Amino acid sequence: MQGTNVDCYDLVIIGGGLVGASLALALQPLAEQLNWNICLVENQPPAAESDLQASSLQKWQPSFDGRSTALAWGTRQIYERLGLWNALQQHANPIEHIQITDRGFLGSTQLHHAEQQVAALGYVVPNSWLGKVLWQGLANAKNTHVLAPAAITAVHFPSAEQALLEGQFNGEALTLKARLVVLADGGRSGIKQQLGIADEVHDYEQSAIVANVRLSKPHRGWAYERFATDGPMALLPLAGREMALVWTRTSEQVDTEMGMNDAGFLSAIQHSFGSRAGRFQKVGERFAYPLKKVRAKEQVRRNLVLLGNTAHYLHPVAGQGYNLAIRGVMTLADALANGAQQAADNGQVFHPGELPLLQQWQAQRALDQSSVIELSHGLIGLFANNTPLLGHARAAGLMGLNLTAPLRRWITAKAMGV
Ligand SMILES: Cc1cc2nc3c(=O)[nH]c(=O)nc-3n(C[C@H](O)[C@H](O)[C@H](O)COP(=O)(O)OP(=O)(O)OC[C@H]3O[C@@H](n4cnc5c(N)ncnc54)[C@H](O)[C@@H]3O)c2cc1C
Repeated sequence: MQGTNVDCYDLVIIGGGLVGASLALALQPLAEQLNWNICLVENQPPAAESDLQASSLQKWQPSFDGRSTALAWGTRQIYERLGLWNALQQHANPIEHIQITDRGFLGSTQLHHAEQQVAALGYVVPNSWLGKVLWQGLANAKNTHVLAPAAITAVHFPSAEQALLEGQFNGEALTLKARLVVLADGGRSGIKQQLGIADEVHDYEQSAIVANVRLSKPHRGWAYERFATDGPMALLPLAGREMALVWTRTSEQVDTEMGMNDAGFLSAIQHSFGSRAGRFQKVGERFAYPLKKVRAKEQVRRNLVLLGNTAHYLHPVAGQGYNLAIRGVMTLADALANGAQQAADNGQVFHPGELPLLQQWQAQRALDQSSVIELSHGLIGLFANNTPLLGHARAAGLMGLNLTAPLRRWITAKAMGV
């Protein structure tokens, strides 16, 4: 529902992208149970009702642009829990097999869904469809007011009880109060900096070129991850003969390749990838995303939580950013539900911004965050080095993976997010 400016909320979520919208939906059962008021503030205009109903895939805000997202098997299970999987699967393309290769060296490994006894290792979904499904869910969320287009410009903590938020809605000043503020703005608003929260940053000085490509052969559910010293290339299965391309390039290469005409670009990716998936016949609109590894040094304070890209932004090589973030979303919803239950059991009033509860949640998230962030970062470092010794060691490793079923199963499980 489109909300009016109700002043005081139990929880305000800043940002209605993949992460903020997912959190609002994950909190619905608790909000209904406790009669909470949640406000989701998004600074882009919402999609029109008629667009949300249509099955077309137009993009409309930064999270829901022309990219596609590889969802791990574990994320499918989360969408089932949220009651959204039936809608999402209309445009979810299964990844049944993954081939990982290292250009210039012999090694390769293959991962198969049958080995895990699941229908798919993961699913590739256009972000525009993810956005539609999430925002359709929000339209039915009784306890959530959506303010869009509205921007929060400052957050203050004048008391231990409530935060004060300032911004604009419909061209007018907006003031909100919230017992808990969730910053899910993708690091786009500057609020993290205003609050003095520092980041650990590693700039890869690279960008990811993203585009949909059409191949001459059907992909039959294969995804490809091809490592090369000048940047990894991933191809993910979409509908028909379409695949989603994610190609990591240095800053100089990006300018050249974004400036090429379609024929030149198709021949550049064919040259880099080779012909195992067929001929690259057509390319759609190209987008470039600068790549950094960012992790906020503080992710909770009293009455404040940072989620999604605001908390951690990672290299997309392993397709793990949203899969990691949604595990943070679900565990936060569970931590709040457990806290509320405990308070009720002890006859106490529950406050969702209690620092010990938020700190405990953050401590529980730390290991998953570190391992996924470092896995993505480590892959880049490992395959960026072109010394022959390392190349042959990688090749042996990849071939070894192909031979060692338990190790391969372990890697597959990591990629599946289970
Ligand atoms: C090239 C690429 C490929 C990727 N592929 C994958 C993949 O295959 N699998 C995977 O798991 N992850 C992938 N990711 C990561 C994934 O895209 C991110 O994890 C996800 O987009 C994070 O969403 P978010 O909601 O945190 O941030 P964002 O997408 O940035 O959304 C933030 C929202 O906040 C709004 N906002 C900003 N400022 C304000 C304000 N002041 N007031 C109100 N609203 C505001 C914005 O309009 C926006 O809607 C990929 C990333 C890239 C760059």
